[in-house]
Amino acid sequence: MSAQPIGLFVAGEWRRGGGRGELARVNPSTDEVLGALTVAEVQDVHDALEAARAAFPRWRATPAVERATLLHKAGAAIRARAPEFGQLIATELGNVLPAATFEAMVAADVMDWSAGEARRIYGRVVPSRFPFTRQTVLKEPIGPVFAACPWNMPLIFPARKIAEALAAGCTVVIKPAEETPATAALLMQVLHDCGLPPGVVNMLFGRPDMVSRTALVSGVIRKLSFTGSVPVGKQLAALAAPQLVRCTLELGGHAPTIVFDDADVDVAAPLLAERKARVSGQVCNSPTRFYVQEGVYERFRERFVAALQSVRVGDPLAGGTQMGPLVNARRLGAIEAFVADATAQGARVATGGSRIGDRGSFHALTLLDEVPDSARIMREEPFGAVAAMQPFRTLDEVVGKANALPFGLAAYAFSRSARTLHALTEQLEVGLLGLNSCNIAAAETPFGGVKDSGYGSEGGTEGVEGYLLTKYVAEGC
Ligand code: NAD
Repeated sequence: MSAQPIGLFVAGEWRRGGGRGELARVNPSTDEVLGALTVAEVQDVHDALEAARAAFPRWRATPAVERATLLHKAGAAIRARAPEFGQLIATELGNVLPAATFEAMVAADVMDWSAGEARRIYGRVVPSRFPFTRQTVLKEPIGPVFAACPWNMPLIFPARKIAEALAAGCTVVIKPAEETPATAALLMQVLHDCGLPPGVVNMLFGRPDMVSRTALVSGVIRKLSFTGSVPVGKQLAALAAPQLVRCTLELGGHAPTIVFDDADVDVAAPLLAERKARVSGQVCNSPTRFYVQEGVYERFRERFVAALQSVRVGDPLAGGTQMGPLVNARRLGAIEAFVADATAQGARVATGGSRIGDRGSFHALTLLDEVPDSARIMREEPFGAVAAMQPFRTLDEVVGKANALPFGLAAYAFSRSARTLHALTEQLEVGLLGLNSCNIAAAETPFGGVKDSGYGSEGGTEGVEGYLLTKYVAEGC
């Protein structure tokens, strides 16, 4: 157990104690208390907002190359401390150590990409229709940003929001998830050690609704960047609306995963099992709704079950483990409820189906077979180590099923037919589409959903663009 509680970071200084409340941090593998986390008071939120407001004029005036240099420095520092980040992520989230360490490499990559983007924030000169007039389009930072993130990628999400905002010249008040604060706190320390000026990034933890409400109605914040569930995203968008705070909302998903008769099943099944096991299925773009064409249904299920059963589940810090626990008892209960509901409605457990042991939040990788559309898992995001499968006959039928839900984040499809893949590209209502591939996220590509999965993108050239305003200047002489 760490000696002192994890603090808040406001105006370049750590805050803890002083009569503030604390939350317990729990290890999801053992149920043991890891330590404590400081809970922000309303005054801490006001102080963080004031710090971000006060730091903004100087940070926006800092030359882009200097902002880029700081981000590159942070990227190098994250890379150098990847083993430390990995230990923290594996301990407080329960992701397996190699993947947790790799998360640090991805976060470093995001820092470098955003640093490059900072140097490419170009405006343009538009040929004028008026004599002796120059028409210029300028890009400017939008202003102080409020960001909130979930726990399932405890380093990448805060790193990406901070990197893109800083690249654009914005300052930040961020509230990472209370489940995984040590990872976020180390990121904050790394940025501070790299020379980030006080107030440019401020980090709070505590009562999410109080922090978000105070920030969004303050009049200080000009941009909301939120990653999390659909209901919370909608609440925050509503709070942002009266002030016309611009939003990027990266919300939940329920990825249709379509396997056609002509797919290479021997490639698709193990690939999808590996993706399903990532972060114990607690990934917004995890493959969740499996629609498999009738001709290949039995063969795919056999290969997929074998691949799921080969995943070694256990202590995320132990060598050879491929999947750890769910993040907490709440998610464990949610997955158990999805399984109970589906089986009560006639679904069959093809593998897994229950909790593992009675210590920690471990659940077996589970495949529910022949799941009826009425089952909750075919409509609600499961966000855990469970997949649901049912057969389909035709392309039109499966496109209809894929698009039937309000979610529109990711979809995957496997087929050797160019015509089929083209039709899916045209017709699927998603922001991310993997065709014979699951590689739908990288620093240099845009990530985001449509419909209830949100709007706006992070990553790619779109990421930094989301933190910029457009100003048009007509200059006569
Ligand atoms: P969540 O919405 O409960 O929490 C996300 C963040 O919002 C956390 O920081 C939390 O403290 C805060 N929050 C919670 N309730 C709040 C409230 N009433 N007001 C203000 N803030 C509040 O989501 P979660 O359970 O932590 O994460 C899982 C969800 O996140 C899933 O739906 C998943 O699909 C989604 N997600 C989406 C993406 C994406 O890029 N689209 C990525 C990862 C996770």
